[in-house]
Amino acid sequence: MLLAAILLLAALTTTQAAFAAAPDVSGYLALVKQDLRLAIVGHRLASANAPFCARKNRNPGWVLHDKSQYPDHAIAQAAFGFRAPVAVSVVVPGGAAEALGIKPGDGIMAVNGVNLSASNFVQNERASARLEKLQDMLADVLDTTGTADIMLTTANGPKWVTLAPPAICASRFWLDTKSKLDAGADGASVRVTEGLMAFTANDESQLAAVVAHEMSHNLLGHRQRLAANGNSNKLILETEVEADRLTVWLMANAGYDTAAALRFIERYGRNTGLGVLSVGTHLRWKNRRRVMQQEIALIEQAVAKNGLRPPPLLTADKL
Ligand SMILES: [Zn+2]
Repeated sequence: MLLAAILLLAALTTTQAAFAAAPDVSGYLALVKQDLRLAIVGHRLASANAPFCARKNRNPGWVLHDKSQYPDHAIAQAAFGFRAPVAVSVVVPGGAAEALGIKPGDGIMAVNGVNLSASNFVQNERASARLEKLQDMLADVLDTTGTADIMLTTANGPKWVTLAPPAICASRFWLDTKSKLDAGADGASVRVTEGLMAFTANDESQLAAVVAHEMSHNLLGHRQRLAANGNSNKLILETEVEADRLTVWLMANAGYDTAAALRFIERYGRNTGLGVLSVGTHLRWKNRRRVMQQEIALIEQAVAKNGLRPPPLLTADKL
């Protein structure tokens, strides 16, 4: 009995020691799980609505990350198995990267013969600058030629692929690690906070409503319009109403339940109240819901072509 107890104690101690030595990767894994959710929703909205977007780019359907963007490199290595300093973090189901068998963890070694580990590419660059440089280079190559030759380092050794992804609405999506319920658009990319990801954790269509709203600001050039005409409350309100209207069209074309936008705006409105939104720039949530309900009624009457309904806000100038 005593021996058994000692052995048990020894076993426990060993297990605890092993456990203590293993880095806790759960936080980083949770982060990438949210990255994947956001990438899937963003890719689906940007793909489905491509015929109506003036600005498009060829999107590989992946998210890349840089080991040095993580505060703890050892945990990042343990969590993601970086095979090169810049690696694939997320592969969007149905995207071009997935079709080529590219997997999370695959390292990016070279793009069209440009070696990423060459000192002149990465030296003295912050991680975000290196990633941005790579993304811009890749986007340029894809937009110019339609294809990009990528050399990867994978679990099975080196691999060469030629990416030839489809052109979809130009947009980038990124996870902001703040807990506040917030999202934003800067004219080119869409930002969603971890707080808002958690708030929509059980309903991808509600997350789609958030992403579609911010994409709408970008697709409609609102930032440029506000910059050119002054940020008056009246003009900001006008852009917010337009974004709400376009939101439900983008959702419908991507096959999301448009009623989720109504559910979201009610939950968000009740949760945040008017405190964070200045009265002059945003409608109250009941009015935002009413605007979207009217728009959903228009979608139901609209004639679909190839399963898509042209959003009036994106197509008016082309008619
Ligand atoms: Zn907005």
